[in-house]
Amino acid sequence: MTRTYSGKCLCGGARFTAVGPPVVVAQCHCEECRRLSGTCHSIGAMFRRDAVVINGTTSEFTYQSGKGSTVTKGFCATCGSPVYGRNTRSADHITLPLGAMDNADGLQVEVVIFDRDKPHWDRLEENVAFFATQPDWRPPE
Ligand SMILES: [Zn+2]
Ligand SMILES: [Zn+2]
Repeated sequence: MTRTYSGKCLCGGARFTAVGPPVVVAQCHCEECRRLSGTCHSIGAMFRRDAVVINGTTSEFTYQSGKGSTVTKGFCATCGSPVYGRNTRSADHITLPLGAMDNADGLQVEVVIFDRDKPHWDRLEENVAFFATQPDWRPPE
């Protein structure tokens, strides 16, 4: 179903809109995504490049993928949030982070890549405590 997906960085200085549905939604555990996000994976929705508009001030970082393509990551120049990704392997497409979307209803992870690099701490043990919001807790004195 065609709809528009909008999103923004943490400070709101960089925004995107994309007309979907996305080509694919992928969860990636590669080292670059782990370091980029500071967490255990990224989740990105790939759209045709001509269906995406990026607004605001972004800066870019590029690196070579293991397959020899050039990967470009776009960040908000103010708050550092990831805003988009491009890869010369699929130059007609751009990937947007689901976590930055205002409303990702209807989207699901369809594939997981670099599963071999998934860190052990991405699997939660049964004794992990869950809180609906920030608990009233402080580190011990
Ligand atoms: Zn920002
Ligand atoms: Zn990755």
